[in-house]
Amino acid sequence: MISDEGQMQAARVTRDAADKASAAADRMEAAAHRIGVLLEDGYGGNGLRLMLALEDEQARNKKPCIWNLPAEGPYMTSCGEAFEFTVDRPKENGVKFCPFCGCELKLNIIT
Ligand SMILES: [Zn+2]
Repeated sequence: MISDEGQMQAARVTRDAADKASAAADRMEAAAHRIGVLLEDGYGGNGLRLMLALEDEQARNKKPCIWNLPAEGPYMTSCGEAFEFTVDRPKENGVKFCPFCGCELKLNIIT
């Protein structure tokens, strides 16, 4: 049985998450609008180039960041950083993306 306080807390957390998602959607829409305006006026004749650059960037971000876990020591990331959790692995800590490069995280346990 969840206490009233627990329920209120859960409701607050849910509301905060919904507010954040809504704000993020607003920001994306604003960014898309800005890009649309830039493309419409040709962005100094570079509209198409800008679009291709954005697509390149998206494709780059889809490549996963490989986190190699040696027998001892921290994770060595494929983007050239090192990271260590106090306990457990990224999944147990809710980490899905590399905090350094922003790419999706993929584990490679070296035994
Ligand atoms: Zn990375």
